[in-house]
Amino acid sequence: ALTFSSVSKSFGSSEVISDFTAEIPDREFLVLLGPSGCGKSTMLRMIAGLIDISSGDLLFDGRRVNELEPRERNIAFVFQSYALYPHLTVRANIAFPLLMDRFRWWQHIPGIWSIERRRAMRLPEVARKVAEIAEIMELTPLLDRRPKTLSGGQRQRVALARALVRDPSIYLLDEPLSNLDAKLRSQMRIEISTMYQKVGKTFVYVTHDQVEAMTMGTRIVLLDGGIIQQQGTPTEIYERPANAFVARFIGSPA
Ligand code: ATP
Ligand code: MG
Repeated sequence: ALTFSSVSKSFGSSEVISDFTAEIPDREFLVLLGPSGCGKSTMLRMIAGLIDISSGDLLFDGRRVNELEPRERNIAFVFQSYALYPHLTVRANIAFPLLMDRFRWWQHIPGIWSIERRRAMRLPEVARKVAEIAEIMELTPLLDRRPKTLSGGQRQRVALARALVRDPSIYLLDEPLSNLDAKLRSQMRIEISTMYQKVGKTFVYVTHDQVEAMTMGTRIVLLDGGIIQQQGTPTEIYERPANAFVARFIGSPA
């Protein structure tokens, strides 16, 4: 589970997240919803341990996130901009996290790193895993192409495949569909929901799109100005908006 207790984050003198308290059980599809600049990406970066929190506690299975080794956190982060390696093929992009595990120099030192060493995959295993994931994400025919020859939706599928490949225990997705056209967006919504059901892990999904939130989330946290306006299931929020901002943002009947 992910536990936030009174998490706050400031950049200089401006507080971007205020007193964020929430408990996210395992296997939840949590949507962080809110307008531009409300602090969604900042929340994801804190969960990923990319930035420190200013006060409060952010716990991952009862342990402070910033005290965990990256491997223990085992987080997959999918960015809005895909962030694929342009000079590598689709196959190499997907395999990249596994190859990084394999070639990290310290994994070849016996002794204290032996646990890490065991997790590095042999090359035939890497190939098998990449083939398996490519099949799931319907990328098999594209494996030898380079990102610049792919459409936006195909690139996003490669980014998702790369996230899947290490069997992460938590998926962080930052507006992964915002660069896609409406048709592809609704198709990818279904693909991500299907992926969520297949892998059965915790997802934290950032968006400013209430349709995505309502159709994909098992739980929604609605933020404005770094403050939680309401949290609950899509139905609870839609039927019982806590204030005028929530009602307007979600489009609940007045
Ligand atoms: P969007 O939907 O536009 O992506 P967001 O909800 O993801 O917005 P954040 O990126 O979390 O918003 O930013 C929240 C606020 O924090 C913004 O006012 C932003 O300018 C500020 N902010 C984010 N990162 C930094 C930083 N490194 N230094 C200073 N201010 C920052
Ligand atoms: Mg953002």
